[in-house]
Amino acid sequence: MPDRRLSVLISGGGIAGGALACLLAQGGHRVTVVERDQGIRSSGNPVDVRGDAFDVVERLNLVSRLQDAATSVRQLVFVDTAGQRLASMATRWSQDREVEVPRADLSAALVNAARDGADFRFDDTIFEIEADGHGVDVTFERAAPDRFDLVVGADGLHSTVRRLAFGPESDYLTDLGMYVATVRLQNALERADTVLMYNEPGAATALHPGTGKPIAAFMFRSTTQVNSRDADAAKELMTAVYGNAGWRAPELVAAYLAATDTYFDTVSRVRLPTWTKGLVTLLGDAASCVSLFGEGSSSAIQGAATLAESLDASPQNVPAALARYQAKHRTVTSRRQRGVPIASHLLVPASRAGITLRNSALRLARRR
Ligand SMILES: Cc1cc2nc3c(=O)[nH]c(=O)nc-3n(C[C@H](O)[C@H](O)[C@H](O)COP(=O)(O)OP(=O)(O)OC[C@H]3O[C@@H](n4cnc5c(N)ncnc54)[C@H](O)[C@@H]3O)c2cc1C
Repeated sequence: MPDRRLSVLISGGGIAGGALACLLAQGGHRVTVVERDQGIRSSGNPVDVRGDAFDVVERLNLVSRLQDAATSVRQLVFVDTAGQRLASMATRWSQDREVEVPRADLSAALVNAARDGADFRFDDTIFEIEADGHGVDVTFERAAPDRFDLVVGADGLHSTVRRLAFGPESDYLTDLGMYVATVRLQNALERADTVLMYNEPGAATALHPGTGKPIAAFMFRSTTQVNSRDADAAKELMTAVYGNAGWRAPELVAAYLAATDTYFDTVSRVRLPTWTKGLVTLLGDAASCVSLFGEGSSSAIQGAATLAESLDASPQNVPAALARYQAKHRTVTSRRQRGVPIASHLLVPASRAGITLRNSALRLARRR
């Protein structure tokens, strides 16, 4: 137990916020989580928990719960327009020390584990933050104003805490000239262990088996500016980009166009010179988003563990703890951010030559 209990407000009960809430509550701190959604959801796009993040969920006794919710995916197979295999790659780094779990199931497992030790306020959001040298005054859209020792923005790519404390997101968010869209389908795929992907230059169509209900994903390069909250504009762009695409793209795009519960956003990278302003700090995608190309979920969990350890080590000196958190965790996120261009060219080559080169390299690697 630390010699000073901190009162910490976490904005966002997702992966980063859920993990931090668990770890801080275990350390005896007073934790409040404000989450914009109305409650805990399940399913969502599958994300990985591996490496140091797996050690963290193991410490939290969540491995068997996550294994129950996990997909069975083992490989990614690139196909031609007739669905024939062109090349493939393994998706697992370790056979027994990693899981791929729908994003909301991972958040739910973390949030449920934290519930006894933290105060969760759903369907609310921070409205204003006013910090002085000793604490942070916060007003909410619904709840009464309150004062905390520390505010953590774990509220994702379009973080409200980042906007309120650091300035507009356009200062920190780099649009990588790509979009990602997903939609859930009804009928299970033949193989639960295989993600199928079809490439045209600058546009990938993927079918992920999920945990029963598959997910169609579209990743494409485009210079057209679309507001990701404008569903009609998103659908118009998808129709233009995938109009002549091969394989099962027409049927999958039609499913996307007919659905109301879809995901669409830019592929963006978040970079800030510092994650901390006084007694406000950022965690997870809010601090260092790598979108779908770089272990964002594992990074969020690992960052939560580093932040909790730093605060436990010097609760009486929060600025020093935040400086240690940033110095240590930035080495992890910087490495992952450097890998984004490589991953994006591997999955979404911009040219036909790039697709051929990728497939040849993968076939060669398999023969070794
Ligand atoms: C299509 C897609 C596929 C991906 N695939 C992978 C993958 O295979 N492997 C991987 O490691 N990563 C993957 N990622 C990235 C991964 O999902 C993120 O890095 C991870 O979710 C980051 O966790 P987070 O908690 O920081 O943010 P989030 O998971 O986005 O959670 C943020 C939380 O904050 C809440 N919130 C937002 N605004 C507010 C507000 N104003 N007030 C209160 N609450 C708020 C949200 O409702 C949410 O609960 C993928 C991402 C996408 C989009």
